[in-house]
Amino acid sequence: NAKVAKLSDVAIAVNDLSFRYSPSTPIVLKHVSFQIKEGEYVAVIGHNGSGKSTLSKLLIGVLNHNQGTIEMFGNLVTSHNIDQVRQFLGIVFQNPDNQFIGSTVRADIAFGLENKCVNPKKMGKIIKNAAELVGMEKFLDSEPLNLSGGQKQRVAIASAIALDPSILIFDEATSMLDPKGKREIKEIMVNLRDQGDKTILSVTHDMDEILNADKVLVMNQGEAIRFGTPHEIIGDIGFLESIHLGMPFVYQVQEAFKKAGLPLKKASTMDELVA
Ligand code: ADP
Repeated sequence: NAKVAKLSDVAIAVNDLSFRYSPSTPIVLKHVSFQIKEGEYVAVIGHNGSGKSTLSKLLIGVLNHNQGTIEMFGNLVTSHNIDQVRQFLGIVFQNPDNQFIGSTVRADIAFGLENKCVNPKKMGKIIKNAAELVGMEKFLDSEPLNLSGGQKQRVAIASAIALDPSILIFDEATSMLDPKGKREIKEIMVNLRDQGDKTILSVTHDMDEILNADKVLVMNQGEAIRFGTPHEIIGDIGFLESIHLGMPFVYQVQEAFKKAGLPLKKASTMDELVA
């Protein structure tokens, strides 16, 4: 597989993307446009049926688009070059149990590397580094199926980042996890962004997660109706109410304290609030 070059510092450019599953079914994406710069973390939110997972399937090439364009690092994505362009992508899905191939964590992370014909001498170090990045280095000899949900997703992330993708796509990656697992994964996502060069697109139901993102794309009935910073989106309470999306939990708590006349410090994350 030939390598694809980065021709632009825009990691993902979606322009006027429309989609329907078949000629007889309704349009489910309508003229969607947005750009994600290299190193940015973008959360995609919206109700069930708003088109989030269709959008992510088009981005990862599980579905082919035929109206509008998708570019990754300046490379126009087509059905002919999707395999090459996919080298930019690491993907973490919703169900941690469906992502394991290996009988140990080590074998699991190795699988993608073997597929890519990485030099076996280099593999040990790559696997160790990837496991360290997600705090799973002590579990390399464990069986994936014995891990907690959050640990399984951490291994799934390690398997993705071992291949050193520029873009990580998280498709509802925290939605099946308990609160602790959700926190673990969200922390790793922030670390991956903060450590430098990873671009993150995360499709999520979690209004608290959007506070971690640089930008938020709001999908509603197939349209990208807002694209802004978390504070622009959350600051517009009328907008969130008009599309029936709730406020992040930390703001709900602050609101409740205010109404009850109780003092509470200012905070923009639950961690800050309870610290
Ligand atoms: P979300 O991820 O935001 O819940 P989806 O992208 O799954 O939204 O769905 C968007 C719309 O596309 C919905 O109306 C859904 O019913 C429709 N849809 C999803 N998958 C298919 C399919 N395979 N065939 C036809 N319509 C589909």
